Amino acid sequence: MQDLWTSALAALKSQLSEENFDTWLAPVQFDGCEGDTLSLRVPNRFFADWIQSNYLEVLSEAWCDQLAPEQRPADRLKVTWQIDERLQPPAQPAAARPTAAPAKPQVTGTTTRPEEGSGAPLNPRYHFDNFVVGPANQLAHAASVAVSQEPGTRFNPLFLYGGVGLGKTHLMNAMGHTIATNHPGKRIVYVSAERFTNEFIWALQHHSIENFRQRYRTQCDVLLMDDIQFLAGREQTQEEFFHTFNALYQADCQIVVSSDVYPQQIQEMEERLISRFQSGMVADIQPPELDTRIAILNRKAQAEGIRLDEEVALFIAQTVRNNVRELEGTLIRLAVKADLLKRPIDTALTREVLRGHSAHTRNMPSVEAIQKVTCEFFNVRLTDLKSQKRQRSIALPRMIAMYLCRQRLGTSYPELGDRFGGKDHTTVINAVRKITSLLDKDAQVRDAVDTLERRLG
Ligand code: ADP
Ligand code: MG
Repeated sequence: MQDLWTSALAALKSQLSEENFDTWLAPVQFDGCEGDTLSLRVPNRFFADWIQSNYLEVLSEAWCDQLAPEQRPADRLKVTWQIDERLQPPAQPAAARPTAAPAKPQVTGTTTRPEEGSGAPLNPRYHFDNFVVGPANQLAHAASVAVSQEPGTRFNPLFLYGGVGLGKTHLMNAMGHTIATNHPGKRIVYVSAERFTNEFIWALQHHSIENFRQRYRTQCDVLLMDDIQFLAGREQTQEEFFHTFNALYQADCQIVVSSDVYPQQIQEMEERLISRFQSGMVADIQPPELDTRIAILNRKAQAEGIRLDEEVALFIAQTVRNNVRELEGTLIRLAVKADLLKRPIDTALTREVLRGHSAHTRNMPSVEAIQKVTCEFFNVRLTDLKSQKRQRSIALPRMIAMYLCRQRLGTSYPELGDRFGGKDHTTVINAVRKITSLLDKDAQVRDAVDTLERRLG
């Protein structure tokens, strides 16, 4: 039964943010389950209340997923909580944490406990050498490496943007580690915007705002601020961050900011902050294409000691397309399930683990949908899009549609050739290359692709 819990936790881990998972679910101890009641042990009452009101639903779902249909509770899952003070939460929730202690002069990330300074410790698992580089994240990766070599010179600020689970946090931590190694004198602060907000509120309430400002403005050489979109609509924190930003920038300190949307699209973000972000380097991360997804799976399997054959890797990579965290979560769930059931990791088992995923993929745009939206946008006919016509007014939309299919769906080149009126796969490869290079050079192409991406959702 402990195994079922482990496997449910693995599923939860792939659904929640790392900070939330580590804070709230990782410390929970499983004591068993009887009928429809789980017995869980937590460090204090507050924990129980918080999980009960925020995570009970996802927790029930993850648990029930582990059970055979006939074992699932007919009614809602119940939990009995035991308080066990010996259990220590690994990191106390930021808002409840005393932050008054002064920062140590040098923050080297991995060894820093949160109480000792601002921000959070760096995640020891995220480095450049376990980050798989592909066309979709190449630019963000290159900019991050450049920043780590010479922080505060080029690419300042660096703004990383990309959807959920595509490697922003990984890259930021990798920058932190590398700067700590190459520039031992630099004080690095890694903090999520959520934590920054909590620390700021805490400082306001405890009259320690001067201390807060010192930590972020004068005792920091490199600020890595994750998930800035969290500041949306929080005027006072934005104001504080604006001044932090300016102070650091004027002192030639490196600033890196990540967001799950493009700077202008952060709702209720002050114009002057947005223009600060845009004054530096903006690098985006797109969902990885098929080959990169396979490489990520293989890398992860190797790191976890999981034997994964080619066919299974391909199957997972074709099904889970838009989120690397989910890709990894699937692999771990698969390994746990194979272990529990004493079955080999083959496509049959993979299909079972991925059951339910099809509902999700059904909402994905298909090749047809991309062709249709592209035709509408450029006002060309579908038959022309699939024809051999070579004039630019048709060839460009065709190439863009091919590019979008490849990027978003990871469809193979030969298959795309077929779906675009029976073209050779090299034609598709050239189209994707061409658009990729035009995106850098040609604002019109970039706008068209951006608009289409948005329409496709
Ligand atoms: P984000 O912060 O953009 O939501 P994360 O950085 O947390 O995403 O990435 C989610 C998971 O996927 C992490 O475990 C991370 O290590 C992994 N990951 C993302 N991109 C890559 C990549 N290119 N190579 C290897 N692992 C990756
Ligand atoms: Mg993140």
